[in-house]
Amino acid sequence: MEQINILDLSKEELSNAIKPAFRAKQIYQWLYQKYVTSFEEMKNLPKELQLALKKTYHLDPLRIVKIEVSKDGSKKYLFELKDKNTVESVLLPMKQEQVDEEGKRVHHTRYTICISSQVGCKIGCTFCLTGKSGFKRNLSAGEITSQVLMIKRDNAIAENRRVNIVFMGMGEPLDNLTNVSKAVHIFSDIDGLSISTRRQTISTSGLSSQIEKLGQLDLGVLLAISLHAVDDTLRQKLMPINKAYNIESIMNAVRAFPIDARKRVMFEYLVMKGINDDQSNAKKLVKLLHGIKAKVNLIYFNPHHGSDFDRPSEKDMLAFQQYLVDHGVLCTIRQSKGIDISAACGQLHDKEKHDIA
Ligand code: SAH
Ligand code: SF4
Repeated sequence: MEQINILDLSKEELSNAIKPAFRAKQIYQWLYQKYVTSFEEMKNLPKELQLALKKTYHLDPLRIVKIEVSKDGSKKYLFELKDKNTVESVLLPMKQEQVDEEGKRVHHTRYTICISSQVGCKIGCTFCLTGKSGFKRNLSAGEITSQVLMIKRDNAIAENRRVNIVFMGMGEPLDNLTNVSKAVHIFSDIDGLSISTRRQTISTSGLSSQIEKLGQLDLGVLLAISLHAVDDTLRQKLMPINKAYNIESIMNAVRAFPIDARKRVMFEYLVMKGINDDQSNAKKLVKLLHGIKAKVNLIYFNPHHGSDFDRPSEKDMLAFQQYLVDHGVLCTIRQSKGIDISAACGQLHDKEKHDIA
C-alpha cells in the first residue's frame, strides 16, 4: 500500500484519522515546531502509535536536490518530489534596522519564503521560464507546506520566528485553489507553523473568476496581481490568459475582494525594456488604479536563456516609479534578489536541466 503524506492532512483530518484524537495536536507540534524527520522522534507518543503511523504515513515529500546561495543572502532550493518532478522555492532574508529602547541600532532579519504551487504552469506567459516548460501537475497541500518546513529546518530558523509566505514560485496558485487554500489553513494552524494568513500573499496572473472564489473563501490572505501591462493588446501578447480574463475583469474582481482595512492589494509590474517602461504606461497605470487601495511593485525583468526581453535601464525604472509616487500611488522597486542565482521563477529548474543535459 502506498503511504500517505501526513503533511497533506489538516489537524482536523488527522484527529479524525487517529485515536485518541488529541494526539493530532502533539503530532502537529513535532512536525511543524520541532522539525522531526521520523515518527520515532515523537517521544510523547506510545510506541504502538509511532509504529502504526510509520506504516500508514510518510513525512518526507521533498528532498533537497540543490541549493544556490546568492551574494545578497537569498537562497534558492530545488526540491525533488516523490515522483521525481522538481520544484523550487527561495528564502529571502531581509535585514532591517531598528532602534531599541536604549536608542541603540539593532539589526533584525525578516524572512520571506517564496514557494511553488504547481509543477510547471498552464498559463504560458511568454516572459516566464516556468510557463515555457509546460504543465505537469498540481502540488498537494503537504508538498506546498513542506517547502517552508524544509527551508526553516535547513536554516535552523526558530519555530517561533515570523516568516512571510509568498506564492510566487512556480505555478498559478489560483489554478490549484483547493490545495493552496488547504495549505493556507495548515500554515496558519496554531499548533503548526502558526503563520498568520495576513503574512501570506497569493500572487495570480489574474484568473478573475478564481479571484472571486478566493474572496468568497475569505481566508484573510493578501492578494497580488501580476499585471505587467496596462492595455489588453500588450497584455494579451505577454500573457495569453488575458484573452479569457481581460484587465477590466481583473479590476472588477479586485474591487470585490475582501481585504483587511490596513492592507493593500499588490500589483506586480514586470518592467521590460522598450515594451512597457515609458511614461505613457506609467500614466495609464495611475488611471487604472484610481480608487483601489493598491501598492505597486516594479520588478526588473531578469533575462534568461533564450528570452525575448531585456532588463530596463535604472533611469527608466526610477522615472516610472517617480511618476507613480508623484501621482499618489505607493510604489516600490523589487530589488532583483539573487540575480546571480537565477532567482526568477523557473530559472533554477531550467538551469538544472541544462546542467544535466
Ligand atoms: N503564477 C503566479 C505566481 C507567481 S509567478 C503569477 O504569475 O502571479 C512568478 C513571478 O515571477 C511573477 O510575478 C512573474 O512576474 C515573475 N517572473 C517570471 N519571469 C520573470 C523574469 N524573467 N524576470 C523577473 N520576474 C519574472
Ligand atoms: Fe505561470 Fe506565473 Fe509564470 Fe505566468 S508568470 S507562466 S502565471 S508562473
